[in-house]
Amino acid sequence: MTGVFEVLEGLPAIRAWQEEVYVDLHQHPELSSHETRTADVVAGHLTEFGYQVHRIGGGVVGVLTQGEGPCVLFRADMDALPVTEQTGLPYASTVTATDGEGNTVGVMHACGHDVHVTSLLSAARLLAESRDSWAGTFLALFQPAEETAAGARAMVDDELVARLPRPDVALAQHVLGSVAGTVDTRSGPVLSCADSIRITVHGAGSHGAMPNLGVDPVVVAAAIVMRLQGIVSRELPPGERAVVTVGAIRAGTKSNIISDRAELLLNTRAYSEEIRLQIRAAIERIVRGECVTSGCPSEPEFEYYDQFPLTINDAVTTERVDAALRRHFGEDRVGEMAPVPASEDFSRIPDAFGVPYTFWGLGGYPEGVTAPGNHSPFFAPVQQPTLATGAEAIVVGVLAYLGQEA
Ligand code: ZN
Ligand code: ZN
Repeated sequence: MTGVFEVLEGLPAIRAWQEEVYVDLHQHPELSSHETRTADVVAGHLTEFGYQVHRIGGGVVGVLTQGEGPCVLFRADMDALPVTEQTGLPYASTVTATDGEGNTVGVMHACGHDVHVTSLLSAARLLAESRDSWAGTFLALFQPAEETAAGARAMVDDELVARLPRPDVALAQHVLGSVAGTVDTRSGPVLSCADSIRITVHGAGSHGAMPNLGVDPVVVAAAIVMRLQGIVSRELPPGERAVVTVGAIRAGTKSNIISDRAELLLNTRAYSEEIRLQIRAAIERIVRGECVTSGCPSEPEFEYYDQFPLTINDAVTTERVDAALRRHFGEDRVGEMAPVPASEDFSRIPDAFGVPYTFWGLGGYPEGVTAPGNHSPFFAPVQQPTLATGAEAIVVGVLAYLGQEA
């Protein structure tokens, strides 16, 4: 007896409500750090379920205490992306917003954070409706701005640790392209760390017909892009998983003008702090070297932003949660999660409390269907069994600590 059966007995009765919540969230996506409506919806439901509600750093935390026992935190992220939805679903988003650079952009829950919010609200409801089946404290944490790596930090900076009971463990999940109805776990590094880097290369402007009078930053940038390809292939140990991507190059205005600067936007991924620093040093060395080689009049500039920490699942926590998931779902519905070259800021929350955590993958696609990746305008997880499984997995994970047997 762990209480799982009793808590989940209520699941069929809330399915329709669950789907309503999901469709509403899906039709009202909000960009990172602008999740005001979503936060209000979440706070409204948590209040209705009887949670004590805290608004912290743009996020919402519901606290429910049921007698003596451990404390478990479960985190869901709330933000959507500047992507124009092309799923063709009857409930597709038609929302637009103005991005940080003043452009009008489509907004879509293209990373499935609406699945995360719905699943956590569902689990919060089920746990509130069957309080006799568990003991301890449950923290349902909804964070803003995961996509920009700003949200977990904003909550920590707004005294998250001082304002909440200290959890013993923190849990989170992410919907992926794996089979709906299944979950995947893994101990150790599961998600990469990531850095975005804005590099400015300074050339010397000139007439396009008189390149000898200038230093062409387009040529410097081109040389840099080619040299950067050698970092992963030639400088890192074979078998080390890492990525260096040049996502954007911006320079110049006209065909006959040599620009005085070029900007490169890079994104890097690594699975250890050591490799992250090695990549960073190699990028700076190559960029500085190419600038010297070309005779640039001043030093290049490096600005690091959207920095995500590594996500490393604690072995003891993962083992306990994985065993509970296997007991509940059966071996065929719980797989081993492959390390994903994506990043998350979730770990900043357990790290702020100094507690262990585990993060698992939630399937979102029917068997045999090739899922477009997260962030695709076609990303469309099936509502069921994804939402039901999302709620179940949370309840099972939480009750691995707050259940009667635990
Ligand atoms: Zn995402
Ligand atoms: Zn995401």
